[in-house]
Amino acid sequence: MHKGYERSQAAFAEAKKIIPGGVNSPVRAFRGVKGDPVFIERGAGSKMVDIDGNEYIDYCLSWGPLILGHAHPDVIKAVQEMATKGTSFGAPTELETEMAQLVTEIVPSIEVVRMVNSGTEATMSALRLARGYTKRNKIVKFEGCYHGHADSLLIKAGSGVATLALPDSPGVPESVASNTLTVPFNDVDSLKLAFEKYGDDIAAVILEPIAGNMGCVLPQAGYLEAVRAITTQYGALLIFDEVMTGFRAAYGGVQALYNIEPDLTTLGKVIGGGLPVGAYGGKREIMEMIAPAGPIYQAGTLSGNPLAMIAGLVTLKKLGEPGAYQRLESMGKRLVEGFLATGQELGIPVTGSYVGGMMGTFFSEQQVVDYDTAKQCNLDRYAKYFHEMLKRGVYLAPSQLEAGFLSLVHSDEDIDRTLEASRESMKQL
Ligand code: PMP
Repeated sequence: MHKGYERSQAAFAEAKKIIPGGVNSPVRAFRGVKGDPVFIERGAGSKMVDIDGNEYIDYCLSWGPLILGHAHPDVIKAVQEMATKGTSFGAPTELETEMAQLVTEIVPSIEVVRMVNSGTEATMSALRLARGYTKRNKIVKFEGCYHGHADSLLIKAGSGVATLALPDSPGVPESVASNTLTVPFNDVDSLKLAFEKYGDDIAAVILEPIAGNMGCVLPQAGYLEAVRAITTQYGALLIFDEVMTGFRAAYGGVQALYNIEPDLTTLGKVIGGGLPVGAYGGKREIMEMIAPAGPIYQAGTLSGNPLAMIAGLVTLKKLGEPGAYQRLESMGKRLVEGFLATGQELGIPVTGSYVGGMMGTFFSEQQVVDYDTAKQCNLDRYAKYFHEMLKRGVYLAPSQLEAGFLSLVHSDEDIDRTLEASRESMKQL
């Protein structure tokens, strides 16, 4: 029986008085689904419980990190044990080397890696490195891709910027914005044109190789190969932003799945096992430009702190067990195919995709291949569907322009219940 949202509503009203919009990150406010957020009290496994006592099967999973589910016993135990010895030292620990070893083993193109505290820090630092290494100024990004909130990356960005339909962000100086070129995803010719015009001054191309911040949009056949070839031809670095897809689309990320070697890779989310972590890494020759090995500066008081390292290490090791990604993908397949089948049965136009532990579903008449087609999906219908699902105990991303996530502890019963809820919810549309 649903217990209503009374406490959450009161909590939100309180929060709005002293936190901008009541939240510490915009999409949490549920504006993309025209409602008020539920406030969470606790989580365990595939479920979380709000402060009114409603339980949800969670497909947002803190926006991706919780691939072992909420409060996984192994993660909690390791963090507790570590915390008794200290939470941060600001001096090197062996855990950091262990983490670097594991990352360089798992992610094919990474030879050397630096830990930071968020995905934003990772992409921001990777861009500085690319500019410093190539001695060029411009970068290319793709419409609808989101890479965190560094100035030069807030141009035609996905995720919350797209959900709130914000213009390119106020506060980003024109002099910075003019060095960011944007082209449509999955469109080789536009990228070629950008390079024909500015090729001598393009330091890097950055992209989500599977775009997860405008839903879940896969690269078309040959696209990533073409992006790799063009960047190589012009001497620009290719940066795969695998903050979302790393250890999620596949253990080694999209680069392992499609066998493409980027020059630099950014990581986040899963790598921290639910604690604040990001990382960037790549070819030795480039990475050794970073201080103190080289002249390009980047630092962090809490970077590589032992709590985050141990949570990440436990998570990554667990994901290395045989069958993990097959399990994740088989659940994604059931969910997306079930959603599509119900849409067809009820005459509601839908489309969707899944890969590893991530997925995307759209209320859309057409296949979604880029930001333009993503934006044409039926946002009102999603908003209604989202709230119907929430009432039935399923917590989806509070925006259609976001990917959905699975954990290894979601059960077949969770999937059955979700498909049932989905069918009932779609009937209400
Ligand atoms: N890159 C990608 C691909 C992301 O999905 C995100 C966050 N959703 C970021 C970068 C920024 O990461 P953070 O929110 O940890 O700063």
